[in-house]
Amino acid sequence: MHGRVTGPRETERRIGEIRARARTRNADLLAHNYQLPEVQEAGDFVGDSLGLSLEAQKSGAGVIVFCGVHFMAESAKILNPEKTVLLPSLSAGCALADSITPESLLKWRERYPGHTVVTYINSSAEVKALSDICCTSANAVSVVRSLPGDRILFTPDRNLGRWVARQVPEKEIVVYDGVCPTHDVLRDASVDRVKLGHPDAIVIAHPECREDVLALADEVCSTSGMLSAVERHPEARTFIIATEWALIHQLKKRFPGRDFIPADGCIGCRLHCPYMKMITLDAIERSLRENVFDITVDPEDAVPARRALERMMAVPRDR
Ligand code: SF4
Repeated sequence: MHGRVTGPRETERRIGEIRARARTRNADLLAHNYQLPEVQEAGDFVGDSLGLSLEAQKSGAGVIVFCGVHFMAESAKILNPEKTVLLPSLSAGCALADSITPESLLKWRERYPGHTVVTYINSSAEVKALSDICCTSANAVSVVRSLPGDRILFTPDRNLGRWVARQVPEKEIVVYDGVCPTHDVLRDASVDRVKLGHPDAIVIAHPECREDVLALADEVCSTSGMLSAVERHPEARTFIIATEWALIHQLKKRFPGRDFIPADGCIGCRLHCPYMKMITLDAIERSLRENVFDITVDPEDAVPARRALERMMAVPRDR
């Protein structure tokens, strides 16, 4: 049943039940920072794509319930083929991952012979399988710097690719034309307006935001990087956050004495990823009860995709 209204006590009770059921199933719940706050509370581990990939590998559980989107669950399965990886809702896709297909990558690659293909983790297993190395927003700059070649094809996120290109000017980086609609919708004008009301606030932006927004930011980093970014400003009380609104749940928990304001100037309603919000407590309960939805990856894609992911995981975070 979806959409029922419950109080905090009832939510807490349900989270307790879910966690108890997960223990009896020898399951770990991994939750992305963009998940609904109550789903983050149910998680054994909350983090960004890189953190969740590493955690999936470290986990001693036989079952991983991946509270995130499809490409993340697929990556967890590729890295842990012996484990059962469950995604509680098959509607949890990703517009950015869907912007590139194996066919479009092959066609694009043909135009740039001799270039190294760097693919953001927000992509399908088939696309990863055709790539030389993956990256996340937490290590994209370090990944590009680590490569011996200086001609790069960066796919699929245009904003992240352009930001990396500015950090690594010594390499020629050709960028694919995909975007995350959740971040790409934000404009500098909205951030400026929020800043007017909080002139001393520190602006922290995700590199999937457009260049005009990044130009206003004091810090540009991945979602987990944002938690450390707050620590770098012990004197600041207020932070304007340019990424999906649910990350603010983690920031508030970690820094109860500070204020965090969504950069869109409202309640984060524009900085909203509908795919991430397909995972609800109801969906997780069902997933654990009925063993759904079991994520599988064609071995022909899984082997080369794993190689690209493992190369990425060998590169440290940007900072
Ligand atoms: S926030 Fe953007 S990149 Fe992340 S899952 Fe949603 S649509 Fe995809």
